[in-house]
Amino acid sequence: MTSPPNTLISTRDLQVGFAIRKGPFSKGLLKAVDGISIDIPKGAFLGVVGESGSGKTTLGRALLQAVPVTGGSATYDDGEVRYDLGQLKGAALKEYRSRAQLIFQDPYAALSPRMTVRDIIAEPLEVMGLTKSRAETDARVREVAATCRLNLEHLRRFPHAFSGGQRQRISIARALVCGPRFVIADEAVAALDVSIQADILNLLKQLQRDLGITFLFISHDLSVVAHTCDHVAVMYLGRIVESAPTRALFRAPRHPYTRALFSAIPSLDPDDRGRAQVLSGEIPSPTNQPSGCTFHPRCPFATERCKREAPQAEKGADGHMVSCHHWRELAAAPDAIRQAEPAE
Ligand code: SF4
Repeated sequence: MTSPPNTLISTRDLQVGFAIRKGPFSKGLLKAVDGISIDIPKGAFLGVVGESGSGKTTLGRALLQAVPVTGGSATYDDGEVRYDLGQLKGAALKEYRSRAQLIFQDPYAALSPRMTVRDIIAEPLEVMGLTKSRAETDARVREVAATCRLNLEHLRRFPHAFSGGQRQRISIARALVCGPRFVIADEAVAALDVSIQADILNLLKQLQRDLGITFLFISHDLSVVAHTCDHVAVMYLGRIVESAPTRALFRAPRHPYTRALFSAIPSLDPDDRGRAQVLSGEIPSPTNQPSGCTFHPRCPFATERCKREAPQAEKGADGHMVSCHHWRELAAAPDAIRQAEPAE
């Protein structure tokens, strides 16, 4: 399968597994990412959603080469360089790190309390040797601090003097200072107040527009994803079960798991109370995945076929992809999800 033109990151059957000890004499394999094929266009704002344990963070880390890829392939091609991510080592890996960066979730834990804001932002430049003099480093730090709407007078202060939103802007400045083309924001606004979240999301969107940066936005907050991302991928147990342009996905979700996630979005309408479909049970262990469709033990529409046979990804001309044997029947009966709810 070839990638469309203008693709920055492309994965094919990407797998990340971790060997684990199950007992004194047996070993197992934890499949955190299990066969992901996706193309991320240049300049896109791709959201990745799913429950805790669905593999969102591991997917992001695999694309940064922070965890080893154990199967399949992942490539990065920004027009200047092309890397096979599974093969990156030494100088090439260091060079890739200047092109692909990460914004952490917790702006309180992500910044060293012993370093000034100037030193925090300058550190990646110095570690990667991207500037030749202190004056050049300072000029770049001031430029990126201004882009992230930081007060230049504050560069000599320490992180404890700042609020959560200001600290997250410092984290973003540190991620941007090397001029990356690809940035992974892993729950980047989850630890912030709602009003501060909007400020940080606006900044990320502005960076996408002005600098052409491609974002992978990992989040469990569907409202944030709906308002920020151009395209959304839904993950369950290490796989992408549905992906589509944001508007199409939120208007007409096809996979029962996506429908259940969306039905759980809190509404301000008091008449909407009780609409949420509660998924029964926990997400299964990635060390012992169910047969067939891995969602079948929790799916209200599971059939014998679902227990036996894993569904293949079906992608339409509109870019809407879904992995479910019965999505067409469910799309023809949009209220089916409510009928399947257990009676109170
Ligand atoms: Fe549910 Fe079957 Fe579709 Fe899986 S394939 S989501 S079990 S209906």
